[in-house]
Amino acid sequence: MKNATGRSPLAEVDPEIASLIKNEERREAEKIRLIASENYASRAVLEASGSCLTNKYSEGYPHKRYYEGQQYIDEVEELAKSRLQALFGKPLSDPKQLHVNVQPYSGSPANLAVYLAFVKPGEPVMGLGLPAGGHLTHGHTVSITGKFFQSIPYSVRRDDHRIDLDEVRKLAKEHRPKLIWCGTTAYPRTLDFPAFRSIADEVGAILAADIAHISGLVAAGLHPSPVGIADVITSTTHKTLRGPRGGMILCKPEHASVIDRAVFPGLQGGPHNHTTAGIAVAAKEATTPDFAAYAKRIVDNAKTLASELLSRGFSLVTGGTDNHLLLVDMTPKGIGGKPYAQALDRAGIVCNYNAIPFDPRKPMDPSGVRIGTPCVSSRGMGADEMKRLAGFMEQVASSQAPEVLDRIAAEVREMCAGFPAPGLTV
Ligand SMILES: *Cc1c(COP(=O)(O)O)cnc(C)c1O
Repeated sequence: MKNATGRSPLAEVDPEIASLIKNEERREAEKIRLIASENYASRAVLEASGSCLTNKYSEGYPHKRYYEGQQYIDEVEELAKSRLQALFGKPLSDPKQLHVNVQPYSGSPANLAVYLAFVKPGEPVMGLGLPAGGHLTHGHTVSITGKFFQSIPYSVRRDDHRIDLDEVRKLAKEHRPKLIWCGTTAYPRTLDFPAFRSIADEVGAILAADIAHISGLVAAGLHPSPVGIADVITSTTHKTLRGPRGGMILCKPEHASVIDRAVFPGLQGGPHNHTTAGIAVAAKEATTPDFAAYAKRIVDNAKTLASELLSRGFSLVTGGTDNHLLLVDMTPKGIGGKPYAQALDRAGIVCNYNAIPFDPRKPMDPSGVRIGTPCVSSRGMGADEMKRLAGFMEQVASSQAPEVLDRIAAEVREMCAGFPAPGLTV
């Protein structure tokens, strides 16, 4: 062979990494994954995003590039854009009026592009505070978005833990923000985009909807769409939408050029074309009956899990869920969120500890756990499995004895074996 360089399989070149990947694959197969932001990308998405498209530089946008050789890349990006336009443009009389940018490297860079497009450093912006279920990039103090802009967080109500729209309006009138974020990362209820629109209009603010968590539900019509309401919409592509790690921005035509310029050259260089291809595949998959059934399972499973947990004495923030996630307040069970999440992990059930609104405990040792149903729904699990899962969660809440956790882990493994996960080979 003349040049064998770079043609050997991973297992030969780097057995250490190959075996770590194998181990992670086994972990993803054998455990019940309840992290609300995670999913299983399909084999087709993994193939596209692990392809030679990673080799190509293509700064610019289709047919306006700074490098030659874009014969296929332009088509890939155009397919990704037109498929997302068709998928999310449905609320518009003419879906072509929805502008799409698929180049943000992930959800956070997509949000930064929105700031760069509409806000100057030091100007006021509003978003749901992190302790109430908002995202870091909506103006939290440790984030660049809280350091470079004047951040005015709004919160949820103390009594029912729903977003306090009266407070949003009051703060907006007082501070006249340039930008208002409407979007969440740990909030189990439907977002009222029209209410945010009217507040933004009252103060002349840009309304940005961040649907990172719920874009798969929006695509399936299971959560109201912000399209036609918000000025600009950002999302990840890897959460409920079930694509590769990536980001996207949807906006009204009048904001198209300022958004495109903010992404490139404002923030980024060359787009990740392998990811763009994966996004195109995910957007195609999202139009299938399979995807519609998966999205419906997400919401049904979350509701079943909610009622099963409530009947077992668990406490849920807002008392239930409308979407893919539940925020469980562990206070009545007498165990903190972190030790509970750690015990669950040993029992084969993976979630994250999470602050609850107005949490009396510290952020690193909060009162709650966040659990989401996208992964179990991608595997095809349904009501019976949610009931068993609630039973496991109850047992772990009452005993963290190693033998109890290991016995549950074995039961979890056996249950998971009946539900092969998308994208995995085991
Ligand atoms: C996950 C998330 C993001 C950030 O996405 P990354 O891809 O992790 O950068 C932004 N906004 C919200 C609401 C999210 O939940």
